[in-house]
Amino acid sequence: MQKGKINVKADNIFPIIKKFLYSDSEIFLRELVSNAVDATQKLKTLALSGDFKGELGDLTIRVYLDTKNKTITVSDRGIGMTGEEVKKYINEIAFTSAEEFLEKYKDQAENIIGHFGLGFYSTFMVAKQVDIITRSYKKGSRPVKWSCDGSPEYTLDEAEKESRGTDVVIHVDKESEEFLDENRILGLLNKYCKFLPVEIAFGKEKEWKDGKEVETDKDRIINNTQPAWTRKPSELKEEDYLEFYRELYPYSEDPLFHIHLNVDYPFNLTGILYFPKIRKNIEIQKNKIQLYCNQVFVTDSVEDIVPEFLTLLHGVIDSPDIPLNVSRSYLQSDSNVKKISAHITKKVADKLSEIFKKDRKEFEKKWDDLKVFIQYGMLTEEKFYEKAQNFALFKNTENKYFTFDEYEKLIKENQTDKDGNLVYLYSTDVEKQYAFIEAAKSKGYDVLEMEGQLDTHFINHLETKFKDSRFVRVDADVADNLIQKEESKESRLTKEQQDDLSEVFRSQLPETPNFNVVFESMDESDNPVIITQSEFMRRMKDMAELSGGMGFYGDMPENFNLVVNSNHELVQRIAREKDEAVGDELKKISEKLNPLEQSKNELEKANEKKKEEEVAQADRDRLDELKKKIEELQGKRKEILAGFGRENKLVKQLIDLALLSNNMLKGEDLTKFVRRSIDLI
Ligand code: ADP
Repeated sequence: MQKGKINVKADNIFPIIKKFLYSDSEIFLRELVSNAVDATQKLKTLALSGDFKGELGDLTIRVYLDTKNKTITVSDRGIGMTGEEVKKYINEIAFTSAEEFLEKYKDQAENIIGHFGLGFYSTFMVAKQVDIITRSYKKGSRPVKWSCDGSPEYTLDEAEKESRGTDVVIHVDKESEEFLDENRILGLLNKYCKFLPVEIAFGKEKEWKDGKEVETDKDRIINNTQPAWTRKPSELKEEDYLEFYRELYPYSEDPLFHIHLNVDYPFNLTGILYFPKIRKNIEIQKNKIQLYCNQVFVTDSVEDIVPEFLTLLHGVIDSPDIPLNVSRSYLQSDSNVKKISAHITKKVADKLSEIFKKDRKEFEKKWDDLKVFIQYGMLTEEKFYEKAQNFALFKNTENKYFTFDEYEKLIKENQTDKDGNLVYLYSTDVEKQYAFIEAAKSKGYDVLEMEGQLDTHFINHLETKFKDSRFVRVDADVADNLIQKEESKESRLTKEQQDDLSEVFRSQLPETPNFNVVFESMDESDNPVIITQSEFMRRMKDMAELSGGMGFYGDMPENFNLVVNSNHELVQRIAREKDEAVGDELKKISEKLNPLEQSKNELEKANEKKKEEEVAQADRDRLDELKKKIEELQGKRKEILAGFGRENKLVKQLIDLALLSNNMLKGEDLTKFVRRSIDLI
């Protein structure tokens, strides 16, 4: 027996390893199984080149769990090691690289993707002792047993081993006994080793017999050695891709389509990405892209490797060129990773473009599912925007689809305002804004459906991209004003009548939210009263809400316009009723008011050019007196008008109708409205 001391600088590296990646100690199994796979692949290569002439035999890698003796064993029939090789590879090289790795990353261990680089020595995260019993494929080599209990001392001894290959036996330590559980090991193998290229057996297949689960004598193989992404696209049918998807995400809805990645220059990358059905809402997804390195699972948090919007995709990426033993922050600046990320973005855009060109119908059918994804990409990746602007679609409220160019052509003629700006009308809720949509349509306008989660952002983005264009929500104004054209209609109410009616309507408005009463000369056939909300204010509020903080705009009260159609017959009627009911009274006040206002104007005019202190005291007093009187009389007028308004059922009815069609009439007010309507009938 030989004894030796591993050449360590730090007195004892093992306690460090143990503590090091405590939360991730499960990777030990991945490390051992991938070593076994490597040893097996090496032997196959030697056999191919003729350097190994013996029988390959059964190359299955076997994982054993012995709960009684508290060991986990990984056994392979690969190249094995001679005593000299054990000294070199295990005592020196493996050790040195583990030590270097720890030295370099001890402060940022959590950050290292999948903790690659720790290799064989990661077993000491869970072991109180590790044995290696190995026999080299080389003729005449003698089997050896290496053993180490977690101190720098090891033993190396002759051993009994009939067959070629290596058994690594882990004596699980007290703190890690969770791993002495069949399901736990099975889970780990499924997670990390599911697609390794050499068959891995763990226990036996089970079957149900007489109401009990019993073991058969068939090996339970836990992996698929030839996953779809490692095969040539030409060998695969659509069904194979779907099957692979189901293998990756057993309980998910089938995806929309796939993209097979296959690059070997300037970096190596294979993989299959799937477009899942995500619908309108970007949910926190349970299915994620999985990153592999030569078929070994590394991680499913790929945020630093692919652009953010692509993390919505599903599938696998396999690349030995992604540096894995570096910290995540370093990763983003790595040039290979940048190239990979750009390549994937381009591939995804090309695929979408291809489907769009080949089969527009199909593309339109999938659009509602694709939309969030494409918008997300266009918002966050300039390169993607450039490509996607040719196939991204608008959908209008009649469920017709248009490319950006097609849509521009469609609305150019009719929806350009007097300043030459193209106005895109949109609805964020086709049901709620139905009346506005109809009104816009009756003017020959087209309205886009923008109900999606990202649409608000997307609209803002498009406004920065589209020249001389503007997006206006369909309820931002009355149809006539949505797109300001040269012609303006004449009003059938005088300015004075409008002022009077303004008071009348104001008297019947709810206290909140805030309403401004404005008059518009619309068609007689348009609604008598409409409620609108300014595009600007609404967007500012939306943005404030989206960004969480309330801020200036967020704190502003909701502001709406009550737009009265001065040309509508019912409004005319209210004006007439007002004249009949309170006309004389108002006239008397006006007769008093007019000369006062005249005097006030004259006096102000006379002193117009003077500075404040130059105005004579007598004039100042007179002016104050006039103002007071005018105010008093105006107050009286207002009272009379408000009194009339409160008595007039029609005014209240018209306001309520407008509130109702905006979904703003609720509770008691709604009940009252219904009663009043019945009375009126
Ligand atoms: P890495 O696998 O990254 O080289 P490890 O620390 O995991 O580092 O292993 C160190 C070396 O030990 C390997 O390169 C290999 O030469 C040898 N080795 C480990 N496991 C086996 C095995 N099962 N069969 C043969 N050689 C092995």
